[in-house]
Amino acid sequence: MPRDSIILGLSGYRIQRIHGGNPVIMNVRYTGEVTCPFCGSDSLRTKARYIRKLRHDNYGTRPCYIHLQGRKYLCRDCGRYFNQRFPGVLPRYRSTEVYRRHVFRNHMDGICSKTLAERERIGSATVERWYQSLLEKRVSERKNSPCPEALGIDEHFFTRRKGYVTTFCDLKHHKVFDIALGRSERSLEGFLNSLRGRDRVKMVCIDLSRTYRSIVKKYFPNATIVADRFHVIRIINNHFLNTWRALDPVASRNRGLLSLMRRHEKNMRPDQRIRLEEYFKGHPVIGSIYSFKQELCQMLLRKTCCPKTCRKMIPRLIDLIAQLQNSGFDNLVTLGNTLDDWIDEIVCMWRYTKNNGITEGFHNKMKMIVRRAYGFRNFANYRLRVRALCA
Ligand SMILES: [Zn+2]
Repeated sequence: MPRDSIILGLSGYRIQRIHGGNPVIMNVRYTGEVTCPFCGSDSLRTKARYIRKLRHDNYGTRPCYIHLQGRKYLCRDCGRYFNQRFPGVLPRYRSTEVYRRHVFRNHMDGICSKTLAERERIGSATVERWYQSLLEKRVSERKNSPCPEALGIDEHFFTRRKGYVTTFCDLKHHKVFDIALGRSERSLEGFLNSLRGRDRVKMVCIDLSRTYRSIVKKYFPNATIVADRFHVIRIINNHFLNTWRALDPVASRNRGLLSLMRRHEKNMRPDQRIRLEEYFKGHPVIGSIYSFKQELCQMLLRKTCCPKTCRKMIPRLIDLIAQLQNSGFDNLVTLGNTLDDWIDEIVCMWRYTKNNGITEGFHNKMKMIVRRAYGFRNFANYRLRVRALCA
C-alpha cells in the first residue's frame, strides 16, 4: 500500500501538500482512471476544474479536511456532462465515508450525539442522520432473508401508547431475526404473512402462551412447538409456593425458609438441608409436596434425550400430572391442568437444549438500546436499531 493511501485510509489518492495546523488541510488528487458513469467510456474532455472540500478522519486529535481537486467532464461517446466521481466519497456529500463511519462507531460505542458533535465540531443532527443512514445500510444487507430453522418467540413491553412488541429470535445463530408491533394474532397477521420461507422453520420455542401456540400452528406448519424450560419451571415454583402459603401462612413469611424452599437442591449446604428437613418433620404434608415438586422439576430439566428415553419418561410425567389434578389443593390442580394442556410441548422440551434464554437476553439488550436513546416513540426507528445492533 503506498504511503499516501496509508495516511488517508483511501486508495488511489496522492497527497500533494499538507498545511494548516488546526484543522489540518490536505491537498489531494485522485490518480485512478476516470470513466463516464453513464456509458463507461474513457473518451472524455475536461470542461472545468473545481475543489471539493471534504471533512476527513481526524489527524491525531485535530480535525482534518481534504481539498480534493475534481473536474467536470464531457463524454465524447454519449455527449453527457458529469462531475468526476471519487471512490470512498459519495456524490454531493461534504465528508468522506471513512469519517462518517468513524462518527457512526463512536456513537454506537455510547458517546451521546451532543458530546460527539461538540468534539467533532459538527451538528448533533448530523451525527443522528449519519448514524441512521449507516444503520439502514447495515439492515438492508439482510433484507428479505428467509425465516431461520429454530425460532424463539416472546413478547416485551415497548411504550404505554403502543403496547407490546413480539420478538422473533434466531436461536441457532443467536441473533434477533425481526420484531413486530403487537402480540395478538390480529396485529401480527400482516407481518407473519409477509415472511419468506415460513415452512423452513423446524422448531419454535415459546412460553406458555395460547395465542403464540395458535399462531405457530397456523403460520409455521412444519415447526415443532417446544415449551420454554425457564417458564415451565417458574410456573411450577410459583404454584408450589402459593400452596405452601395457603397451608402454613406463618412459616412462609420466614425469609430464610423461603429462600431454602426456592433453592435448587444441588445448591444447598448440608446444614441448610438439615434445617429444611427439621421443618418438614413438623409439617409432613408440606414435606411430601416439596419432594414431589423436586421430582417434577428434575424431570423437566432434562435435555437432549433420545426419543427412546423420552418415550420411557412420558408415563411417569402423565402420572405426576394426574396426581396434581387429583391432589385437592387449588393451586396444584391449576398447575396440573396447565401442564396437561401443554404436555406435547413439554415433552418436546426434553429433545432440545435451545430455549428462550437467548430471546430474554436480547430483551435485556433492547432495554439498553431504549435507555441509550432516552426512549423511542417511533416503532420503525426502534426496529431499525434492534435489527442492526442485535445481530
Ligand atoms: Zn458517456
